[in-house]
Amino acid sequence: MKPNSLQELYVEQLRDLYDAEQQIIKALPEMIDAATSEDLKEALEEHLEVTRSQATRLEKIFGKLGEKPKGEQCKGMHGVIEEGSDLVDDVEDADVRDAAIIASAQRVEHYEMAGYGTARTYAKLLGQNEAGELLQQTLDEEKEADQTLTELADEINVNAKPGKLKGEKTTATKGRKVA
Ligand code: FE
Ligand code: FE
Ligand code: ZN
Repeated sequence: MKPNSLQELYVEQLRDLYDAEQQIIKALPEMIDAATSEDLKEALEEHLEVTRSQATRLEKIFGKLGEKPKGEQCKGMHGVIEEGSDLVDDVEDADVRDAAIIASAQRVEHYEMAGYGTARTYAKLLGQNEAGELLQQTLDEEKEADQTLTELADEINVNAKPGKLKGEKTTATKGRKVA
């Protein structure tokens, strides 16, 4: 059904985000398995936890609206995830594969950031401030995840560079937080 009001468009966008989060929850374990860097694995594992709570946050918003969270398929996220997993599957070199995982994960984060920014703005316009705050919280987490991936890329992309001596260690900070 096509939305005919900002309220309906808002609900449609929330459903799209909800489906996107479900897809990410399904896809992340595969990426965690494919990752070699412990820091990257940890960051993705932590983001999986955060993603689950983001889905719960959306359910809370739907509860308040008296609407069902299901019913929309996020084709965009489907494409982003499919492209990422196709890319990662073909890469044999562990460092290059980690770089590919980061490249794909950052596309996921940016796609989510676009959706949450829009939904947050609609919530505020519609006077739904509590939902607006929850959506802002998720938006902040996605930004933080993106930032952590950028920091990890600083180290991992260098490892993936040709001519880098295998086994040569870079200074990795343990237990870095990702949202
Ligand atoms: Fe998310
Ligand atoms: Fe979508
Ligand atoms: Zn995310």
